[in-house]
Amino acid sequence: MFMVLDPETIREQLASRLAELQVRAAHVHAARIEPVNPDSSEAATEKEDDEVLEGEEALIMLEIAAVRAAISRLDAGTYGVCARCGQGIDPRRLGVQHEAALCLSCATSLYD
Ligand SMILES: [Zn+2]
Repeated sequence: MFMVLDPETIREQLASRLAELQVRAAHVHAARIEPVNPDSSEAATEKEDDEVLEGEEALIMLEIAAVRAAISRLDAGTYGVCARCGQGIDPRRLGVQHEAALCLSCATSLYD
């Protein structure tokens, strides 16, 4: 089925995705900066957890940047246009991944 994407719906979904990511980022950040008690027998585990949280926070920040970029492309009227080759991105791809900046073939060729 060919899906027609309504820019306003996309914008709403991107905005709520952004809000959700910001809440998650705040939680992860708060958990990460919680002071570690060096006398605690759990200090080593807490340090490991911090590294996991740091990785998670970095991923969330990347996603936030991608969603923000998608919102600016909506504003600029370039949403749905591949940032690399300039071809239209398959709406089915955008339907699944609203923040996609590249068409499928460009996105795949990045990993070749
Ligand atoms: Zn492309």
